[in-house]
Amino acid sequence: MKKTLVLIVEDEIEIADLVRFHVEREGFEARTAASGRVALQMVEKEQPGLILLDLMLPDIEGLEVCRRLKYAPETRSIPILIVSAKGDEADIVAGIELGADDYVTKPFSPKVLMARVKNILRRYGAAIGTAEQPEQTGHSIVLADGAVVIDTDRHEVRVNTKPVELTVTEFGILQFLSTRPGFVRTRDQIISAVHGDTAVLSSRTVDVHVTALRRKLGELGMIIQTVRGVGYRLAEPASVPEDE
Ligand code: CA
Repeated sequence: MKKTLVLIVEDEIEIADLVRFHVEREGFEARTAASGRVALQMVEKEQPGLILLDLMLPDIEGLEVCRRLKYAPETRSIPILIVSAKGDEADIVAGIELGADDYVTKPFSPKVLMARVKNILRRYGAAIGTAEQPEQTGHSIVLADGAVVIDTDRHEVRVNTKPVELTVTEFGILQFLSTRPGFVRTRDQIISAVHGDTAVLSSRTVDVHVTALRRKLGELGMIIQTVRGVGYRLAEPASVPEDE
């Protein structure tokens, strides 16, 4: 079986080498690019299965690399994991809104990084084990080992088999987050998914709705995790180590 190619875009050589070591140890093939320009050239030549993208790069910066890759039809589907310095939340949010799949902040633990990489590849159905999509039975989504069931036909949510009354917005937020457990969604992504482009929701009101939603889900409210400075995500079915 052909190994998945991971492209490491990183201008700090020690970090690139460290990441490469761990990527290869997990059985992937690795290439490194030390600038945005080189990265774009390499992607064109060898279609990696995943890109680890630093944001602060010489010549073309990471966000621009992300924008170009997500804009071009032939590279749009390559998953991107942003690897960036702490405190760059605005850039991380911008990257996720451009279509990046997830992020890890520096300094990171290699274990966390590799867990995220495998998580993304699993979602994309790459050849590394079975997918862990939320269980879809008919028109319902089953979360938390069956404790939470979202009936998308009836617009109903049951927690431990008991129906829970949710507002349209709360239902929309839960349904949207449940489409990709483990992946962070920004407040703006939640707003446009739930209310379309005619948003009456604001970032602040997203927080209010999430708080109400958590309260209604009772002890299972914890499946909706806050990602500080970035947004929200639904907890993974199988736990992935957290980025500190
Ligand atoms: Ca850098």
